[in-house]
Amino acid sequence: MSCRREKEGSEWEGRFRGCGYRWTLSRQAIIEALSSTSDHMSAEEVYNAVQKKHSSIGLATVYRTLEILVGMAVVLSFDFGDKRARYELAERFSKKDHHHHLVCNDCGKVVEYTEFIGDEIELLNKTEKGLSKKYNFKIDNHVIQFYGLCKKCQ
Ligand SMILES: [Zn+2]
Ligand SMILES: [Zn+2]
Ligand SMILES: [Zn+2]
Repeated sequence: MSCRREKEGSEWEGRFRGCGYRWTLSRQAIIEALSSTSDHMSAEEVYNAVQKKHSSIGLATVYRTLEILVGMAVVLSFDFGDKRARYELAERFSKKDHHHHLVCNDCGKVVEYTEFIGDEIELLNKTEKGLSKKYNFKIDNHVIQFYGLCKKCQ
């Protein structure tokens, strides 16, 4: 998707219009739902959350909107192994701190951690530097996810 910068209207309106979309009530409601939770919601959960205030927003609209938001890099879609996509606002739009995920393959539990171990930070810094150089790509963030078994499931 190629979006251009559109300065007219509010920030969100400009962002949507710049990507060729309108800034609608349902889009606003879905972003609100995603920013007011610390969970990684499925489309159905997003639908249930927006239904409380806006009963006219259908499930199909929620699916379509999430797809658009992922395409705009406003929302990240995750696969935690439970066969449905989970959504989270991209970090620059989110109130959450930068975190990584530990995902349990058995029960699907997701641990978000912000206390990075020293080696991790060093490795990531080195990796980002090396990749930037090799591919001439300016890296400003990353998404890290580890899979395995949680304490209970081991
Ligand atoms: Zn990180
Ligand atoms: Zn588990
Ligand atoms: Zn998360």
